[in-house]
Amino acid sequence: MSRKNKSPKVAVLFGTRPELIKLAPVIAAAKKLGIDTVTISSSQHTDLLKPFIDAFSIRIDHDLRVMRAGQSPNDVASRAIARLDRVLTEVRPDLLLVQGDTTTALAGAIAAFNLGIGVGHVEAGLRSGDRKNPFPEEMNRRLITRLADLHFAATTHNRETLIAEGVSKSNIAVTGNPVVDSLLRFAETAKPNRQLAKLIESTSGTRRILLTTHRRESFGSAMEGNLRVLREFIESRADLSLLFPVHPNPNVRKVANSILGGIDRVFLLEPLGYSDFIALVRGSWLIVSDSGGVQEEAPSFGKPLLVIRANTERPEAVEAGVAKLVGNSSKALKGHLEHAYGDETWINSVKKQKNPFGDGRSAERIVKFILRKI
Ligand code: UDP
Repeated sequence: MSRKNKSPKVAVLFGTRPELIKLAPVIAAAKKLGIDTVTISSSQHTDLLKPFIDAFSIRIDHDLRVMRAGQSPNDVASRAIARLDRVLTEVRPDLLLVQGDTTTALAGAIAAFNLGIGVGHVEAGLRSGDRKNPFPEEMNRRLITRLADLHFAATTHNRETLIAEGVSKSNIAVTGNPVVDSLLRFAETAKPNRQLAKLIESTSGTRRILLTTHRRESFGSAMEGNLRVLREFIESRADLSLLFPVHPNPNVRKVANSILGGIDRVFLLEPLGYSDFIALVRGSWLIVSDSGGVQEEAPSFGKPLLVIRANTERPEAVEAGVAKLVGNSSKALKGHLEHAYGDETWINSVKKQKNPFGDGRSAERIVKFILRKI
């Protein structure tokens, strides 16, 4: 991009919970630094997204309303591209900002590219190394890199990945990941709601394990195996509890209820607001998760994390010693849990960590780079 523009207009697109958590600070910084900012929600998710729109006080200028029950990536992409074509033609931004690796983000990059609108990619340069895992996210992020003009890399490792793929150094900024901006902002004031505060109180004598699992690759036997291992682990040790905010996806709900429902010291919760989730992270002894965002958040709270996935596109957390990659094996999960329980050296060693993903000033860096480039 080589446009110069006195009062730039930037459209910001999101459709899921993690996109909003990571783009909310960027929207705030853009407004503060005088950028005309237009927000577009694809509503790829609706129920999960709404509480975050409220908590971050985001005004939605355009809602694409793409969500349908049982939607496939192609359903989401086709509806999002068609609707974005109209919205972007009307808004005519200088740049469309997309985040991460969702189908919404890829649809946004395609729609903007086809209209000759610049694309900025927040959280650029993550790679798992396996084009089909996570699916479709790994391919989404690779394709977005090909379509984007500006690349906001969270870490120098991400920057090197982009350069190795031929992206011009002058279009990459290492900014950190704005998830750290959001979590630091919420951590200052985060207070759990009354019900959660009660649960935290009632489990105070236990070592709490916080579990999140919702990724497509985990569905089926992998998830069932992991949940069985966790159930046996909790049942066999009276000083443990398991707190699991269950994703609304029916593939998760069904298995969670059938394997973990009604078990002592196991608490199946509805998805939590950000303050509540942070409160649980803080109160946890150990986190078990297949989430991307949680890998970026755990280091800020010095919380040990077992990543229940075959690979990770966030090796920085493993390198920092905060996270361990379990792989796709419930037997390996069992081994990791028993080891952590029997010897707390690792748990204690992660307590004071610098977060490799950011320092809380990523949004400002992203916006300043945009102002330099458009
Ligand atoms: N999160 C939350 N409430 C929950 C579960 C997760 O606020 O009940 C937050 C979490 O802090 C993280 C983000 O949601 O920032 C992760 O979203 P998700 O796991 O859906 O997506 P991923 O990060 O795997 O793309």
